[in-house]
Amino acid sequence: ESIISFQKVNKWYGNNFHVLRDIDLDVARGERIVVCGPSGSGKSTLIRCINRLEEHQEGTLRVDGVELSDDVKAIEAIRKQVGMVFQQFNLFPHLTVLENLTLAPMWVGKLPRAEAEERAMQQLKRVRISEQALKYPLQLSGGQQQRVAIARALCLTPKIMLFDEPTSALDPEMIKEVLDVMIELAGQGMTMICVTHEMGFAKAVANRVIFMDQGQIVEQAPPHQFFDNP
Ligand code: ADP
Ligand code: ADP
Repeated sequence: ESIISFQKVNKWYGNNFHVLRDIDLDVARGERIVVCGPSGSGKSTLIRCINRLEEHQEGTLRVDGVELSDDVKAIEAIRKQVGMVFQQFNLFPHLTVLENLTLAPMWVGKLPRAEAEERAMQQLKRVRISEQALKYPLQLSGGQQQRVAIARALCLTPKIMLFDEPTSALDPEMIKEVLDVMIELAGQGMTMICVTHEMGFAKAVANRVIFMDQGQIVEQAPPHQFFDNP
Protein backbone atom coordinates (compact mmCIF):
# COMPACT_ATOMS: atom_id res chain seq x y z
CA GLU A 1 0.00 0.00 0.00
CA SER A 2 1.35 3.43 -0.97
CA ILE A 3 2.43 5.98 1.61
CA ILE A 4 1.86 8.75 -0.95
CA SER A 5 -0.72 8.57 -3.70
CA PHE A 6 -1.51 11.25 -6.28
CA GLN A 7 -4.54 10.52 -8.45
CA LYS A 8 -5.20 12.89 -11.34
CA VAL A 9 -3.92 15.81 -9.30
CA ASN A 10 -4.15 19.23 -10.93
CA LYS A 11 -3.06 22.58 -9.65
CA TRP A 12 -3.15 26.09 -11.02
CA TYR A 13 -1.44 29.24 -9.79
CA GLY A 14 -3.94 32.02 -10.13
CA ASN A 15 -6.66 31.32 -12.64
CA ASN A 16 -4.72 30.16 -15.62
CA PHE A 17 -1.19 28.94 -14.84
CA HIS A 18 -1.58 25.16 -14.93
CA VAL A 19 1.41 24.08 -12.87
CA LEU A 20 0.54 20.41 -12.17
CA ARG A 21 -1.24 18.44 -14.88
CA ASP A 22 -2.94 15.12 -14.17
CA ILE A 23 -0.28 13.88 -11.79
CA ASP A 24 -0.57 10.16 -11.02
CA LEU A 25 2.11 8.99 -8.65
CA ASP A 26 2.27 6.23 -6.05
CA VAL A 27 5.15 6.05 -3.62
CA ALA A 28 5.71 2.92 -1.56
CA ARG A 29 7.22 2.98 1.91
CA GLY A 30 11.00 3.11 1.77
CA GLU A 31 11.16 4.39 -1.80
CA ARG A 32 13.85 6.91 -2.66
CA ILE A 33 12.70 9.09 -5.50
CA VAL A 34 14.64 11.78 -7.30
CA VAL A 35 12.61 14.36 -9.22
CA CYS A 36 14.37 16.17 -12.02
CA GLY A 37 13.41 18.32 -14.99
CA PRO A 38 13.83 21.88 -16.22
CA SER A 39 13.42 24.92 -14.01
CA GLY A 40 9.76 25.89 -13.76
CA SER A 41 8.46 22.40 -14.60
CA GLY A 42 6.63 22.07 -11.27
CA LYS A 43 9.04 19.91 -9.23
CA SER A 44 8.98 22.12 -6.18
CA THR A 45 5.21 22.54 -6.35
CA LEU A 46 4.75 18.77 -6.60
CA ILE A 47 6.59 18.05 -3.36
CA ARG A 48 5.15 21.10 -1.57
CA CYS A 49 1.66 19.65 -2.16
CA ILE A 50 2.65 16.58 -0.10
CA ASN A 51 2.79 18.57 3.13
CA ARG A 52 0.21 21.08 1.98
CA LEU A 53 2.56 24.03 1.65
CA GLU A 54 0.68 24.24 -1.63
CA GLU A 55 -2.90 23.13 -2.29
CA HIS A 56 -4.02 21.14 -5.28
CA GLN A 57 -7.41 21.98 -6.73
CA GLU A 58 -8.41 18.77 -8.51
CA GLY A 59 -7.82 15.08 -7.98
CA THR A 60 -6.98 13.25 -4.78
CA LEU A 61 -3.78 13.22 -2.81
CA ARG A 62 -3.38 10.77 0.06
CA VAL A 63 -0.44 10.80 2.43
CA ASP A 64 -0.04 8.08 5.04
CA GLY A 65 -3.67 7.08 4.59
CA VAL A 66 -5.07 10.59 5.01
CA GLU A 67 -6.68 12.48 2.14
CA LEU A 68 -5.40 16.04 1.97
CA SER A 69 -8.22 18.56 2.00
CA ASP A 70 -9.01 21.74 3.87
CA ASP A 71 -9.39 19.75 7.09
CA VAL A 72 -6.95 21.46 9.46
CA LYS A 73 -6.62 18.38 11.68
CA ALA A 74 -5.66 16.23 8.71
CA ILE A 75 -3.06 18.76 7.63
CA GLU A 76 -1.58 18.95 11.12
CA ALA A 77 -1.42 15.16 11.27
CA ILE A 78 0.33 14.97 7.92
CA ARG A 79 2.86 17.67 8.72
CA LYS A 80 4.06 15.58 11.67
CA GLN A 81 4.78 12.74 9.26
CA VAL A 82 6.49 14.77 6.56
CA GLY A 83 9.83 16.50 7.15
CA MET A 84 11.05 19.05 4.66
CA VAL A 85 14.44 20.52 3.79
CA PHE A 86 14.70 23.58 1.56
CA GLN A 87 17.39 25.09 -0.63
CA GLN A 88 17.70 27.98 1.82
CA PHE A 89 18.17 26.40 5.21
CA ASN A 90 15.38 28.42 6.89
CA LEU A 91 16.97 28.20 10.33
CA PHE A 92 16.06 30.83 12.92
CA PRO A 93 19.18 33.02 13.13
CA HIS A 94 18.50 34.31 16.64
CA LEU A 95 18.19 30.78 18.09
CA THR A 96 21.06 28.38 18.76
CA VAL A 97 21.30 25.17 16.80
CA LEU A 98 19.87 23.28 19.75
CA GLU A 99 16.99 25.75 20.15
CA ASN A 100 16.22 25.49 16.42
CA LEU A 101 15.80 21.75 16.93
CA THR A 102 13.76 21.80 20.13
CA LEU A 103 11.32 24.53 19.09
CA ALA A 104 8.77 22.44 17.18
CA PRO A 105 8.99 19.31 19.38
CA MET A 106 8.36 21.46 22.49
CA TRP A 107 5.67 23.76 21.16
CA VAL A 108 3.98 21.64 18.52
CA GLY A 109 4.77 18.19 19.89
CA LYS A 110 4.36 19.25 23.56
CA LEU A 111 7.52 17.39 24.49
CA PRO A 112 9.16 18.39 27.80
CA ARG A 113 12.36 20.39 27.28
CA ALA A 114 14.68 17.66 28.58
CA GLU A 115 13.25 15.10 26.18
CA ALA A 116 13.26 17.53 23.26
CA GLU A 117 16.92 18.32 23.95
CA GLU A 118 17.84 14.66 24.21
CA ARG A 119 16.16 13.95 20.91
CA ALA A 120 17.83 16.99 19.33
CA MET A 121 21.27 15.84 20.45
CA GLN A 122 20.63 12.38 19.00
CA GLN A 123 19.71 13.89 15.64
CA LEU A 124 22.69 16.25 15.71
CA LYS A 125 24.93 13.22 16.26
CA ARG A 126 23.25 11.51 13.34
CA VAL A 127 24.30 14.38 11.05
CA ARG A 128 27.69 14.59 12.86
CA ILE A 129 27.34 18.11 14.15
CA SER A 130 26.61 17.70 17.88
CA GLU A 131 29.68 19.74 18.88
CA GLN A 132 28.03 22.81 17.28
CA ALA A 133 24.82 22.58 19.33
CA LEU A 134 25.29 25.86 21.20
CA LYS A 135 26.39 27.93 18.23
CA TYR A 136 24.15 30.16 16.16
CA PRO A 137 23.39 29.18 12.54
CA LEU A 138 25.41 32.01 11.01
CA GLN A 139 28.52 30.81 12.85
CA LEU A 140 28.34 27.61 10.79
CA SER A 141 29.25 26.84 7.19
CA GLY A 142 26.47 26.36 4.65
CA GLY A 143 26.98 22.61 4.67
CA GLN A 144 26.76 22.53 8.44
CA GLN A 145 23.62 24.69 8.41
CA GLN A 146 21.97 22.36 5.93
CA ARG A 147 22.83 19.35 8.10
CA VAL A 148 21.24 21.18 11.05
CA ALA A 149 18.14 21.73 8.90
CA ILE A 150 18.01 17.99 8.17
CA ALA A 151 18.41 17.19 11.88
CA ARG A 152 15.64 19.64 12.70
CA ALA A 153 13.27 17.89 10.30
CA LEU A 154 14.22 14.51 11.78
CA CYS A 155 13.39 15.70 15.30
CA LEU A 156 9.70 15.37 14.47
CA THR A 157 10.35 11.66 13.64
CA PRO A 158 8.80 11.92 10.18
CA LYS A 159 7.91 8.92 8.04
CA ILE A 160 8.70 10.84 4.86
CA MET A 161 11.46 13.34 4.06
CA LEU A 162 11.15 15.86 1.24
CA PHE A 163 14.22 17.65 -0.09
CA ASP A 164 13.88 20.67 -2.38
CA GLU A 165 17.24 21.27 -4.04
CA PRO A 166 19.07 20.85 -0.72
CA THR A 167 22.55 21.38 -2.16
CA SER A 168 21.85 24.12 -4.72
CA ALA A 169 22.79 26.99 -2.39
CA LEU A 170 26.01 25.34 -1.19
CA ASP A 171 29.59 25.89 -2.20
CA PRO A 172 30.82 22.85 -4.14
CA GLU A 173 33.08 21.60 -1.36
CA MET A 174 30.10 21.35 1.01
CA ILE A 175 27.78 19.42 -1.23
CA LYS A 176 29.25 16.04 -0.40
CA GLU A 177 28.80 16.34 3.36
CA VAL A 178 25.08 17.00 2.87
CA LEU A 179 24.62 14.27 0.26
CA ASP A 180 26.45 11.81 2.55
CA VAL A 181 23.89 12.47 5.29
CA MET A 182 21.06 11.95 2.81
CA ILE A 183 22.66 8.72 1.58
CA GLU A 184 22.80 7.47 5.18
CA LEU A 185 19.13 8.30 5.71
CA ALA A 186 18.24 6.39 2.57
CA GLY A 187 20.23 3.43 3.87
CA GLN A 188 18.15 3.51 7.06
CA GLY A 189 14.95 2.97 5.08
CA MET A 190 13.56 6.52 5.11
CA THR A 191 11.00 7.26 2.40
CA MET A 192 12.52 10.18 0.51
CA ILE A 193 11.58 12.43 -2.37
CA CYS A 194 14.39 14.67 -3.51
CA VAL A 195 14.32 17.43 -6.09
CA THR A 196 17.95 17.65 -7.10
CA HIS A 197 20.28 18.06 -10.03
CA GLU A 198 22.86 15.80 -8.36
CA MET A 199 22.76 12.89 -10.75
CA GLY A 200 25.55 11.04 -8.95
CA PHE A 201 23.33 11.04 -5.88
CA ALA A 202 20.37 9.87 -7.95
CA LYS A 203 22.39 7.02 -9.35
CA ALA A 204 23.68 5.97 -5.94
CA VAL A 205 20.48 6.27 -3.96
CA ALA A 206 17.28 6.53 -5.98
CA ASN A 207 15.22 3.51 -6.84
CA ARG A 208 13.19 5.70 -9.18
CA VAL A 209 13.87 8.90 -11.09
CA ILE A 210 10.94 11.03 -12.18
CA PHE A 211 11.35 13.52 -14.98
CA MET A 212 8.94 16.45 -15.08
CA ASP A 213 8.27 18.87 -17.90
CA GLN A 214 5.62 21.60 -18.02
CA GLY A 215 3.70 20.26 -15.06
CA GLN A 216 3.60 16.66 -16.17
CA ILE A 217 5.48 13.54 -15.23
CA VAL A 218 6.88 12.64 -18.63
CA GLU A 219 9.17 9.77 -17.66
CA GLN A 220 9.85 7.49 -14.70
CA ALA A 221 12.48 4.81 -14.51
CA PRO A 222 15.17 3.33 -12.30
CA PRO A 223 18.27 5.54 -12.47
CA HIS A 224 20.34 3.16 -14.57
CA GLN A 225 17.80 3.47 -17.37
CA PHE A 226 18.23 7.23 -17.32
CA PHE A 227 21.96 7.41 -17.04
CA ASP A 228 23.44 4.31 -18.65
CA ASN A 229 23.70 4.02 -22.37
CA PRO A 230 22.17 0.80 -23.64
P1 ADP B 1 10.50 23.93 -10.37
O1 ADP B 1 10.65 23.48 -8.96
O2 ADP B 1 10.46 22.80 -11.35
O3 ADP B 1 11.51 24.96 -10.78
P2 ADP B 1 8.16 25.30 -9.43
O4 ADP B 1 7.21 24.28 -8.91
O5 ADP B 1 8.98 26.07 -8.44
O6 ADP B 1 9.08 24.61 -10.52
O7 ADP B 1 7.38 26.36 -10.28
C1 ADP B 1 6.66 26.00 -11.45
C2 ADP B 1 6.15 27.24 -12.09
O8 ADP B 1 5.19 27.84 -11.26
C3 ADP B 1 7.22 28.31 -12.33
O9 ADP B 1 6.94 28.88 -13.59
C4 ADP B 1 7.00 29.30 -11.22
O10 ADP B 1 7.37 30.61 -11.59
C5 ADP B 1 5.51 29.20 -10.99
N1 ADP B 1 5.18 29.46 -9.58
C6 ADP B 1 5.74 28.90 -8.50
N2 ADP B 1 5.20 29.34 -7.37
C7 ADP B 1 4.24 30.22 -7.75
C8 ADP B 1 3.31 31.05 -7.06
N3 ADP B 1 3.25 31.03 -5.72
N4 ADP B 1 2.48 31.84 -7.78
C9 ADP B 1 2.54 31.84 -9.12
N5 ADP B 1 3.38 31.09 -9.84
C10 ADP B 1 4.22 30.30 -9.18
P1 ADP C 1 12.41 27.10 -7.29
O1 ADP C 1 13.79 27.19 -6.73
O2 ADP C 1 11.60 26.03 -6.64
O3 ADP C 1 12.35 27.05 -8.78
P2 ADP C 1 11.29 29.72 -7.59
O4 ADP C 1 12.51 30.56 -7.76
O5 ADP C 1 10.47 29.32 -8.77
O6 ADP C 1 11.70 28.42 -6.77
O7 ADP C 1 10.34 30.39 -6.53
C1 ADP C 1 10.78 30.83 -5.28
C2 ADP C 1 9.56 31.22 -4.45
O8 ADP C 1 8.79 32.21 -5.12
C3 ADP C 1 8.63 30.05 -4.20
O9 ADP C 1 8.13 30.12 -2.87
C4 ADP C 1 7.51 30.23 -5.19
O10 ADP C 1 6.28 29.74 -4.68
C5 ADP C 1 7.46 31.73 -5.36
N1 ADP C 1 7.14 32.10 -6.75
C6 ADP C 1 7.75 31.66 -7.86
N2 ADP C 1 7.20 32.18 -8.97
C7 ADP C 1 6.21 32.97 -8.54
C8 ADP C 1 5.26 33.80 -9.20
N3 ADP C 1 5.21 33.89 -10.54
N4 ADP C 1 4.38 34.48 -8.45
C9 ADP C 1 4.42 34.38 -7.11
N5 ADP C 1 5.27 33.62 -6.42
C10 ADP C 1 6.17 32.92 -7.13
